[in-house]
Amino acid sequence: MSAAIIDGKAAAAILRARIAEAASDLRGRLGITPGLAVVLVGDNPASQVYVRSKAKQTVEAGMRSFEHKLAAETTQEELLALVDRLNADEAVDGILVQLPLPAQIDAGLVLERIDPAKDVDGFHPINAGRLAAGAPGLVPCTPLGCLLLLKQLRPDLAGLEAVVIGRSNIVGKPMAALLTAESCTVTIAHSRTRDLPGVCRRADILVAAVGRPGLVTAEWVKPGAIVIDVGINRVSAPELGEGKTRIVGDVDFDSAAAVAGAITPVPGGVGPMTIACLLANTVTAACLRRGLPKPAL
Ligand code: NDP
Repeated sequence: MSAAIIDGKAAAAILRARIAEAASDLRGRLGITPGLAVVLVGDNPASQVYVRSKAKQTVEAGMRSFEHKLAAETTQEELLALVDRLNADEAVDGILVQLPLPAQIDAGLVLERIDPAKDVDGFHPINAGRLAAGAPGLVPCTPLGCLLLLKQLRPDLAGLEAVVIGRSNIVGKPMAALLTAESCTVTIAHSRTRDLPGVCRRADILVAAVGRPGLVTAEWVKPGAIVIDVGINRVSAPELGEGKTRIVGDVDFDSAAAVAGAITPVPGGVGPMTIACLLANTVTAACLRRGLPKPAL
């Protein structure tokens, strides 16, 4: 292996410490304790783990956590009514509705109901529009975390060729917008891209946000490139015992690491940064909502 391993766990711990400092400063100077409300509908096991982890880290950063666990059969009207209450609640600075939602609920409608000033996931069309327009707003946590990892490695990304595989509203598109704002030359690739390996080989920065285990191999990676693996894929792992599974990314780590200059592992790369950026967005929302300057985190 030649690539440097980008330690997302360590970077997330440093970011969380800065967030805790900013939260403590807000409380000490202005009596403000930022609050994050997380709404979970149903009993999706992965969502339960995420929500628990978000609540724990919120409290550890010195902020308030409000958990709302609703039954799987909750109606759209009931969920919208809860969002309305959270929008009106002064103690709540950030609202996160955990996805996926049960089939009877239109996720787009719910996300649009969240006050854009409290939209710490950055999924509201107003915040997506602000990001596309290069205006300040709340930015989706996963691409924000990827950008922070990149900038820690290379503070100036201007002029670099970036290829983002994936064009979802949650990761791919906002990632491309953030890299464009950093003056990278950005290509967004997807399932219809022709000669994907050839497109990827142009990249100084290659971000994979696909959901296909091990899709990106050494042949796709330009020597020395920075590879950011967003994918979280559960695959069977008979080597760990019968019926066991493990999490892998979209990048075939071992082969890509032999060519890349730096690479994020999965787990321990982008994942930890996502929750840390959610906390960062909560502190940012607490400040911007009150007309205070955005804290430098
Ligand atoms: P989506 O399924 O919404 O989007 C996947 C994208 O990948 C689509 O744009 C799709 O193209 C493209 N794609 C699918 N197959 C291929 C292929 N064979 N070649 C090229 N492109 C392909 O996924 P998300 O963006 O929500 O998530 C992507 C991955 O990131 C998942 O593994 C997810 O679990 C993970 N994730 C990780 C997070 C973290 O915290 N680390 C947070 C969020 C997501 P098309 O548009 O043409 O269909």
